[in-house]
Amino acid sequence: THFGYQQVPWQEKQQKVAGVFRSVAGKYDVMNDLISMGSHRILKRMTIELAGIRPGQKVLDLAGGTGDLAIKFSRLVGETGQVVLADINDAMLEVGRDRLIDAGCSHNTQVSQVNGECLPFEDNTFHCITIAFGLRNITDKDAALRSMLRVLKPGGRLLVLEFSTPTNKALAKAYDAYSFAVWPRLGKLIVNDAESYQYLAESIRMHPDQDTLQGMMNDAGFARTEYFNMLGGIVALHRGFKF
Ligand code: SAM
Repeated sequence: THFGYQQVPWQEKQQKVAGVFRSVAGKYDVMNDLISMGSHRILKRMTIELAGIRPGQKVLDLAGGTGDLAIKFSRLVGETGQVVLADINDAMLEVGRDRLIDAGCSHNTQVSQVNGECLPFEDNTFHCITIAFGLRNITDKDAALRSMLRVLKPGGRLLVLEFSTPTNKALAKAYDAYSFAVWPRLGKLIVNDAESYQYLAESIRMHPDQDTLQGMMNDAGFARTEYFNMLGGIVALHRGFKF
């Protein structure tokens, strides 16, 4: 590095992730629709349903990026509730903040730049935490899960929406081939950045499968953990509670 220190792998990953999302922030939403062929909207709707948010609740959308979920939560928690849109990346949060303002959500939302591995909130703050397509990008996932558990209220729930492992081997192969062949090309075309979308495809390959992630949630201290496969396991929604 410039400073003569040797970089350890987690620093490399963190910098890479920061570079990826800074590079794509402005066109993130368009790209999301393109690479998921619109399916991320349905997956997010299912996450919202399972979250069971009620008026007056406090919700944290971690790694919330451009605010898709936070906008919806803002309507559900109403005047007396509160939503925190939190992300490590200032460029993503800027887009998210503008979208929240445009959607008329500024009265009950707050934007916060945080690292999910060490959340700067008090213990027992939130009724619900969501993290959609975010955990994969966090280097120390165990630390992040423990940190989320700490800031959840007793009885509160965590929902993790993330790419996972297709249950069918042929689908897994086809999806892997599709993502490596198509996403970098789309990235090049739309944001002039093939590398970020190559990273995206690679990060999905590396991410723990359904049972491993459930085990990690158990180890972090979550109770009644379960998961729901979506799109044949291409994506999974994990849920766990704090007791
Ligand atoms: N949740 C949004 C959605 O579903 O559209 C955005 C998902 S985007 C693929 C992943 C987000 O994770 C990026 O905005 C990135 O900045 C954020 N992120 C990566 N590492 C993080 C960390 N350590 N703490 C908090 N956010 C992080």
